[in-house]
Amino acid sequence: MTELSSTQINQFQEQLERHQARVREDIRAELLAADEQSYSELAGRVHDSGEEAVAGLLADLNISRIDRQVQELGRIERALIRIRTGRYDVCGDCGGEIGFERLSSYPEAERCVSCQTQRERVFAHEGTPSL
Ligand SMILES: [Zn+2]
Repeated sequence: MTELSSTQINQFQEQLERHQARVREDIRAELLAADEQSYSELAGRVHDSGEEAVAGLLADLNISRIDRQVQELGRIERALIRIRTGRYDVCGDCGGEIGFERLSSYPEAERCVSCQTQRERVFAHEGTPSL
């Protein structure tokens, strides 16, 4: 059992907070860009066709990237909460240790390697959009 030192945890926290700020900034930029794009495209399409085109455009709007960033932000926030509650190194599935190595390469990790591997096997068919 190798518990994380408070220095290590502080470093992870700083790293997560920096990442959090960056992702928040990305989401904001993405929303602004999407907004501008949709307005100009809407204006163009509304001009040369009817309601169908507008509905199509709204469906096309690429919100999947923003959606991924929002999910990422959620993972970062959950990790920060776990730091605050002293459960940062605890696997959300089995309650075991996530481990310094895994957290070093992926500070948002919520599960230990074996639980994550198992989960990826179960959900392998999801998350691969067939576009
Ligand atoms: Zn686990």
